[in-house]
Amino acid sequence: MSASLEQTRTETDALEQLASSRCQYCADGTLVLESYRGNDAAVCETCGTPAMQVWGGSRQ
Ligand SMILES: [Zn+2]
Repeated sequence: MSASLEQTRTETDALEQLASSRCQYCADGTLVLESYRGNDAAVCETCGTPAMQVWGGSRQ
């Protein structure tokens, strides 16, 4: 088991847990996994607000 893999997986798990939960920015939106500005994100399918983004890859 690798610690760095664990960390990446935690962020992915958090996204997956958010997906299918209720949007907190509008009345009856549901969060879905989507790409937002090139990042993996949980985005409301009704209002389009990203509840969480994971900035993967290019850290500068
Ligand atoms: Zn919403």
